[in-house]
Amino acid sequence: MGDKVKKPKISERRKFFTLLAQNAGLGMMGGLVWTGYASKAKGSSLTLRPPAALPEDDFLSTCIKCGLCAEACYNRDSNIDKETGLQRPATLKMAKAGDDVTIGTPFFIARDVACYMCEDIPCVPVCPTGALDLASVTNKNNELDPTMMDMGIAVVDRNSCIAFWGIQCDACYRACPLLDVAISLEYTRNERTGKHAFLEPVVHMDACTGCGLCEIACVTEKPAIFVQPREVALGRPGDHYVKGWDKKDQERIKNRADKDVTTRTKRSEKEAADYLNMDVEY
Ligand code: SF4
Ligand code: SF4
Ligand code: SF4
Repeated sequence: MGDKVKKPKISERRKFFTLLAQNAGLGMMGGLVWTGYASKAKGSSLTLRPPAALPEDDFLSTCIKCGLCAEACYNRDSNIDKETGLQRPATLKMAKAGDDVTIGTPFFIARDVACYMCEDIPCVPVCPTGALDLASVTNKNNELDPTMMDMGIAVVDRNSCIAFWGIQCDACYRACPLLDVAISLEYTRNERTGKHAFLEPVVHMDACTGCGLCEIACVTEKPAIFVQPREVALGRPGDHYVKGWDKKDQERIKNRADKDVTTRTKRSEKEAADYLNMDVEY
């Protein structure tokens, strides 16, 4: 017979179980730490990605964290200060530990350095994986088109925007590279005084690129106009809602197989008053 496995002695067994318990504890702690790290590593849903980035999940699985986009942004011609001849901070940064963004991925904080919507969009063609989708910023004439960028959407906080208080301010409007297209000033009468007017900034959802130049220009202590990813800032009505006034939207349901679907739930014959007098709660 081969050698028997030597049973651990009581004290050794105790040590063995103690070690086991310690390891399990360490494992659990490690698990907790890792869970915390992983959720941190996943990053905030408020992260603004470079121009032409794929939707977040696809972006995260496609970006290889090479940093070429951030390098191109830093080295772009327009990033040299004409007065001093010095290089300015780049818009795009690569996330480090503690940034609340998936580590190693490119992002920008509009309030710190906005995107200047460079005409040649140098950060996009250098991407080797398609995490920045060149086609999404290429127009019908096969030219790179910064107006097609979609990094987020500017949101106006009507409570803190002083233009909504009746104070004349058009800082965000003037800073916008797509003036009167992405943002406009709308005149409304001050009904309370009857003699004053409001000039309110209104962002146009289809045209705003989320560059953040308006956010930087805002004069309030904490910007009253700020960029957020579209998925965070905007609601979504669901595919079954159709804009009755929009011919194109109506086309969507033209060929739907289930367009004749009616509810299969039997309707009650009772009147509203019957329910009020019934001792039943639904
Ligand atoms: S388009 Fe924006 S992110 Fe890209 S290089 Fe220019 S400033 Fe940087
Ligand atoms: S160039 Fe593309 S792959 Fe490289 S870090 Fe930027 S987005 Fe990611
Ligand atoms: S983020 Fe602001 S500055 Fe940029 S396009 Fe939108 S409204 Fe204009």
